Amino acid sequence: MCSFSKNILIFVSLVLFSSSLNFTKEQKKKEEPKKASVFPKLNQVVLNSKSEKKKEEGKPKQVVSEKKTRKRIKGEIVEKQEELFSFSIAGRKFAQGELLFLKIKPLPKILDKLGNFTINWEGQEIPFSQKEGYILTFLPISPEFSKSYGVLELTEKRLFTKNDSKKYEIPVQKTYFATSKVSHLTMDKQYTSDELSEETKAFIKECSDAKAKAFQSKSDLQVESDFEYPVHNPILNSPFYKRRIYNKEKGRPHGGSDFKGGIGDPIYAINDGTVILARPMYYEGNFTVIDHGLELYSLYMHQSEILVKTGDKVKKGDLIGRIGSTGMSTGPHLHLGLRVLGTMIDPLSVVQTDLIEGRNKISRK
Ligand SMILES: [Zn+2]
Repeated sequence: MCSFSKNILIFVSLVLFSSSLNFTKEQKKKEEPKKASVFPKLNQVVLNSKSEKKKEEGKPKQVVSEKKTRKRIKGEIVEKQEELFSFSIAGRKFAQGELLFLKIKPLPKILDKLGNFTINWEGQEIPFSQKEGYILTFLPISPEFSKSYGVLELTEKRLFTKNDSKKYEIPVQKTYFATSKVSHLTMDKQYTSDELSEETKAFIKECSDAKAKAFQSKSDLQVESDFEYPVHNPILNSPFYKRRIYNKEKGRPHGGSDFKGGIGDPIYAINDGTVILARPMYYEGNFTVIDHGLELYSLYMHQSEILVKTGDKVKKGDLIGRIGSTGMSTGPHLHLGLRVLGTMIDPLSVVQTDLIEGRNKISRK
């Protein structure tokens, strides 16, 4: 069994375990006297696992011809019904380093009257899109998130009958990120020596300025369906937020997911969007950034070839480049990054599960 499917097995059992944990927590709560909380008015939202008992068991295994859609798993969802609206939040898991997707469904009679609607996630006002009667946005959970819940605040007079706004506690679990000991580096010397030439320093500065400028790009939600893997037959080389320890010194955590591949293997856009950066960089090598809207960007590094240019509109599954080992890289692979509202998120949290479609639907009452 490859480590990837082992991980999935571990994950599935974790999900089952955590949902049973939640159940016992709920039971306990009823028995215990009410404790004063920091946010006494917050509404706790109960986490439900989307993974139901596998119905397919016993049936012959279906072979999926489209390799990029393999290895999808059911995630978790929370749902809440209010008087004038309902909402659901879907995620692979509600944990550090994961991306959640929020769908709010106001009653049709108030939909056109929502004037000053705002969404705050952990005290920060975040952008959202309005599509087909829904209000949609992403809720990133930083890998460094330190509480057991995040606070979602919805504000709009017409949404609530009594107050202008309401806060909800969204559960956040701990993620155990990997570490590995490395005794030597196989990196090119130019990336490990302490002395950099003035020319190199200037190039690094230019690269970092170009990146900062690109990440200022703000757009409406550009995706209509779920994310897909960027490569055929995705095999993970190095997971998100893995810390390498060189000679007892902790290195910076890994900002993305590395996929196995050979030089020249195709790289596909993980979803619809606009190319906002496509150029050689010092660390990232041949680098492409796609803006998917609402400050969600996918990052593709170390390519041998870039096949798109800044300003191009791309569709999910479009060929955008080829795997390589350019920049700070020890061998051919694709480093896929996901940046959401300035936070690095595990890209597998979007390519591995259904966030946009699937069960994240709200039943209207
Ligand atoms: Zn990487």
